[in-house]
Amino acid sequence: MRRALELAARGWGSTSPNPMVGAVLVRDGRIIGEGWHARDGGPHAEIECLKSASEPPEGADLYVTLEPCSTAGRTGACCDAIAAAKIARVFVGSADPNPAHAGRAKEVLESRGIGCRFGILERECRRLNFIFNESIVSRRAVVALKYAASADGKIASKRGERTRITGAEAAADVMKWRALFQSIGVGLGTLASDNPRLTSRIEGKAETCGIRLIFDAKLNLAQIPDLSKYAVFSDKFADRTRIVCALESDAGRERLLAERGARVMRIPADSRSPEFWDLLKKTLWEERVCSLYLEGGALALRSCAAAKAAEFAFEYENPSLVLGPSALPAWDGPRPFSFEDPQVFGLGADKMVFGKIKYE
Ligand SMILES: [Zn+2]
Repeated sequence: MRRALELAARGWGSTSPNPMVGAVLVRDGRIIGEGWHARDGGPHAEIECLKSASEPPEGADLYVTLEPCSTAGRTGACCDAIAAAKIARVFVGSADPNPAHAGRAKEVLESRGIGCRFGILERECRRLNFIFNESIVSRRAVVALKYAASADGKIASKRGERTRITGAEAAADVMKWRALFQSIGVGLGTLASDNPRLTSRIEGKAETCGIRLIFDAKLNLAQIPDLSKYAVFSDKFADRTRIVCALESDAGRERLLAERGARVMRIPADSRSPEFWDLLKKTLWEERVCSLYLEGGALALRSCAAAKAAEFAFEYENPSLVLGPSALPAWDGPRPFSFEDPQVFGLGADKMVFGKIKYE
């Protein structure tokens, strides 16, 4: 199963909105086939694994990180293929979180005389697909907050100013998550102060870019005659940038921006209401964008957390940096949530806490 997990991770960033899945075919302790789900719309891991078998798979054991599908979708049900290949036993990492399918493969496989056991390295297998597991149930894009704070909880020396909080390892880690999430969002203030590219740049790999969302509730960007001074509006991924506005925005400004070639995503709710975030998440999901990595600034993070709209958080921290009482805190008061079953990673001198959010 550990090998299957490694294979699954090869689909990092390219399987969304589908999960990452890996599979290994084993006979007498020897691996005779391997497969993974490489991209959305492509063959499932189990099918790739059976196809790769170096000898007839009959009587072999299959290890798969996620419950095999039992209902024929675009690619046909994997349970049927497993039965047709006369596999002896199937070991499953985590169940399909979709309540309509969860655990059904066990019954389907056993009815065909195939042994089936769930729960092998279940926690690891479930963690890999934290986005899929959540979005397939909520039918909304999953939102994760990302921020870097000093030891005293500050995210910048002052509002509107970019402050380097964490080091190179943390920056590289962010690139990894940017590659996984299908959309990345920042508020107008962050766009103005940082001029970020919001792309994923990993050494040895081509630069990738999800949908970039610039939160500008009132479309103040319409007052800037030349948007091309910002990387997100002028680089080779410019067509993936959307300006997200809300009910309070002016239709004239929207027209003006459209004339300048900008794409506006209008969310028909007050930007300060929880409904705004829910509608945004629903709109993204309907466009098959099942995840949003919200990188700031403080206003966007606070608004999202106040609406209890984020499911996960990535909290980077430089434990030796103190910015002092006049600096900008991440939160207006104590952090409005805690972490459920958090994972803590050391990144050079910094650390990162990742986990599901639990609202108080
Ligand atoms: Zn399948």
